[in-house]
Amino acid sequence: MEARRALIRKAVNACCGRQGFNFVDGRRCEPTDSTGQIKVTEPATGLPLCSFGSSGERDVADAVASAKAAFAQWSQMACTERGRILINAGSKIRENLEFLAHLEVKDNGKPIWEARVDILSCADAFEYFGGVVPSVAGQHIPVGGDSFAIVSREPLGVVAGIGAWNFPMQTCTWKVAPALACGNTFVYKPSPLTPMTALALADILIEVGVPKGSYNVIQGDGETGSLLCHHPDVAKVSFTGSVLTGSKVMAAAAAGIKKVTLELGGKSPLIIFDDADMKNAVKAALMANFLTQGEVCSNGTRVFVQKGIYKDFMKNLIEATKKLKIGDPFEEDTTVGATISKEHAEKVLRYVESAKSEGAVVECGGERCVLPPPLDGGYYLSPCVLTSCTDDMKVVKEEVFGSILSVLTFSEEDEVIDRANATHFGLAGGVFTKDIQRAFRVVKRVQAGTLWINTYNLYPPSLPFGGYKQSGLGRENGTAVLEQYTQTKTVYVEGGDVDCGPLYQE
Ligand code: NAD
Repeated sequence: MEARRALIRKAVNACCGRQGFNFVDGRRCEPTDSTGQIKVTEPATGLPLCSFGSSGERDVADAVASAKAAFAQWSQMACTERGRILINAGSKIRENLEFLAHLEVKDNGKPIWEARVDILSCADAFEYFGGVVPSVAGQHIPVGGDSFAIVSREPLGVVAGIGAWNFPMQTCTWKVAPALACGNTFVYKPSPLTPMTALALADILIEVGVPKGSYNVIQGDGETGSLLCHHPDVAKVSFTGSVLTGSKVMAAAAAGIKKVTLELGGKSPLIIFDDADMKNAVKAALMANFLTQGEVCSNGTRVFVQKGIYKDFMKNLIEATKKLKIGDPFEEDTTVGATISKEHAEKVLRYVESAKSEGAVVECGGERCVLPPPLDGGYYLSPCVLTSCTDDMKVVKEEVFGSILSVLTFSEEDEVIDRANATHFGLAGGVFTKDIQRAFRVVKRVQAGTLWINTYNLYPPSLPFGGYKQSGLGRENGTAVLEQYTQTKTVYVEGGDVDCGPLYQE
């Protein structure tokens, strides 16, 4: 076991040390038009991980040209064949689970057990879309007499994906798997903080038979992303990131009338009624706040607790939170890993300070923990539970994207629904109650793209995911996403003579 782990770590280190962080036309390459050097640090240690050039205009053009050239072959392939290749990609990801999970931890700092869950979900997505795509069919519509129309679904062309750093491979896969399944080709720009696993995916896709050029990776910062959004041969941009950047992406896409999918931030409510199963509600509150160091878009960071169980719930929640183990993300029993960067950790800690200054009480956590070398350069934050919160506090209104759980109390169902909806976000939400009628009443009225009843933060690829309000536009996953990566073509077939009224006289 130890020997195997040592081998995997060696492979991960070798991977980070390889040359060529772009992947264009089936091979790794350096940018030829770099606009500056990006230095990536390993969150767990704060030590340098890798460095590469930020791709410039020519690199973006090369990647898009490669995807455009590959489109003819990939889009013309029988969809059963494309599906088979993607299902094989899922199997390959499973075969390489340990390597990919370790690479993700190296890049992102999340605990290894969570990274395994993420990587397996990538395999699920390739298998799901590989399986679903042969059944994507058009329509035959009679239009009178012997005439009819056929409506076929066609791919869009070159799709650009731009990702965030919290679920590096999953974010990439949720875009690439359905886009490729529908016959598009792809250029992906990972977050400059987490460049590794999207690149590892390129090797896998080539190995299973995705033709070169169909999936390209270009590394870079926001400027690279912007170049990609403005490129005239990009038909669609699928973006995951903040609301602020999302609006820039949408503006850039608007200039070229490109389609967009936006997966943005959230400030989701988790509503716990008096009759909830206590243990499950506490487990869900942990899942809704402390996975991946709290860096999860759908997190239920506003935990509304009905007054009758408040005391009991808080006792259990604080006990469970204090048991979380902050430590080396590669250790099997670690439950809290490293924050992505020093800057982000400082931002999270500033939210704790602002909460305190506005009158919130820190029940536990909210501090930096310095771990022994070689982890002393990493930013490990203890999960924070805040009480005495009010709806107008900065920490309650804004997306923190870190391990801060704000507890709010409520009395009535109508009241909590109004308060839950009093936000410009609408990504997700949860309700805990044993009363099924109440559960359905509440989820019907909460304005969010995904609601969980008596659980939280689960997203199999068969379920559409995306936001209401400023949390986004469009959906990822489920069969809903197939519409986002295809366009319809209507063909009207005349079954008789052309009827043009008085226009034509014999
Ligand atoms: P970010 O918006 O700072 O960056 C996201 C990506 O956009 C990066 O790759 C970045 O390089 C690129 N970018 C920056 N400026 C750009 C521009 N002008 N044009 C094109 N691309 C540009 O977000 P982040 O800090 O990487 O991620 C955190 C945010 O992502 C949070 O708000 C979180 O809620 C959100 N997120 C949403 C989901 C979802 O599915 N809804 C999932 C994960 C993360």
